[in-house]
Amino acid sequence: MIKVAINGFGTIGKRVADAVTAQPDMEVIGVSKTSVSAEAYIAKEHGYPLYIADLGKKPAFEKAGIEVAGDVDTMFKAADIVVDATPGGVGEKNRPIYEKLGKKAIFQGGEGHEVAGFSFNAHANYKEAENHQFARVVSCNSTGLVRLIHALDQAFGVARVRAVMVRRAADPNDVKRGPVDAIVLNPASIPSHHGPDVKTVLPHIDIVTLAMIVPTTFMHMHSIQMDLKKETTRDEVLKVFENHSRIGLVRKTMGIKSNAELREYTQDLGRPRTDLWENGVFEESVSVLDGKEFYCFQAIHQEADVVPENIDCIRALMGTVKDPDESIRMTNEALNFVA
Ligand code: NAD
Repeated sequence: MIKVAINGFGTIGKRVADAVTAQPDMEVIGVSKTSVSAEAYIAKEHGYPLYIADLGKKPAFEKAGIEVAGDVDTMFKAADIVVDATPGGVGEKNRPIYEKLGKKAIFQGGEGHEVAGFSFNAHANYKEAENHQFARVVSCNSTGLVRLIHALDQAFGVARVRAVMVRRAADPNDVKRGPVDAIVLNPASIPSHHGPDVKTVLPHIDIVTLAMIVPTTFMHMHSIQMDLKKETTRDEVLKVFENHSRIGLVRKTMGIKSNAELREYTQDLGRPRTDLWENGVFEESVSVLDGKEFYCFQAIHQEADVVPENIDCIRALMGTVKDPDESIRMTNEALNFVA
C-alpha cells in the first residue's frame, strides 16, 4: 500500500483524500489543517489522522474535540508521497521541506510549472513521471483542455487551438470572492495563462486562450476551436470522445444546456459532492466544418477534474503501475465513474 499524506485539507485535498481511500493500492496516513474549521471536523469524521504545522495550536483543536496526531513533519516522514493541496504559492514554500526529507510530492495548478519542473496529465505523459521526485497536476482548466486536445491530437493531429474560458468566480464555499454582478476580463490582455499552461504538458501545440470570469460557482465553460491536420467527420470525433474514459458526452437528448442543469445531473447520479470528474462535452456543440475545423463547448468542474489525475500521478511517481491505461482504469473503477 502506498502511504499518502495530504498537506492542505481544503477543496482539492479533501477530495483527493477520499479518492485515495477508495483505491485498492493506497491509503491516507494523515491530513493537515492549520486551524480548527468545519473541514477539521470532516477529517475526524472520515477517520483521517490530523496533523498540524504549529503544535502550539494543539490545545485549540483538542478543546474543539479534535484529536491531533502530531506535527506535519511527523506526517511527512511516515508517508511515501505527499499530495500538497495548499493554496497557490504555499506549495513552493513547502518544496524545500520535501526535498530535505527526500519525499516525493505532487503540487497543484496554483503553483508554477518550475515548482515541480514536470507538469502531469494521465493520458498525455504518465510514463514520463517515473524517476521524478516532484510533479504538478495542471489546473482544472488546463486539465480539461489537455484531455480534449491530446485526444484529438492522437486521432487526427492538431494544427492549432483557439479557446475561450468562461470561468466560475469562486468555489461554492468561498464567501469572500466575487464578482456578484459583472463579467471580468481575466486578463484583458491576450493570451490568458491557460494556453502556456497547456504547453507545459503538450509543448508542441499551437494554442492561444482568452478568459473571463462570470458570477457562478459551479464549473467553467470552455468554447473551443481547433484546426485538425487530418480530415475527419463529426461522427469520428464523437467516437474518439466516446472511447475516452475522462471525456463525458452531455447527450443532446438530455436537454442539458447549462452548468446548473449539469450540476443537478451529477447530484442525481449520486456523485460524491456532485463531482464531475470528466470533461462535460456538449454533444450538440461538437462540429467539424470543412473536414478540419473543430468546435465544441465543454463544462469543467473546477473542484473535481484534477482529482483522478492526482491519483494517477501518485502511481506514476511511485512507479508501482507502469501502464497508464491500467492506472486510469483502476482509478476510474474505484471512483465508480458512470456517465
Ligand atoms: P483551499 O483554500 O480550499 O484549501 C487549501 C487548504 O490548505 C485549506 O484547508 C487550508 O486550511 C490549508 N492551508 C493553508 N495554508 C496552509 C499551510 N501553510 N500548510 C498546510 N495547509 C495549509 O484551496 P484549494 O481550492 O483546494 O486549492 C489548492 C490547490 O489546488 C491550489 O494550488 C489551487 O490553485 C489548486 N486547484 C484548485 C482548484 C479549485 O477550483 N478549487 C482547481 C484545481 C486546482
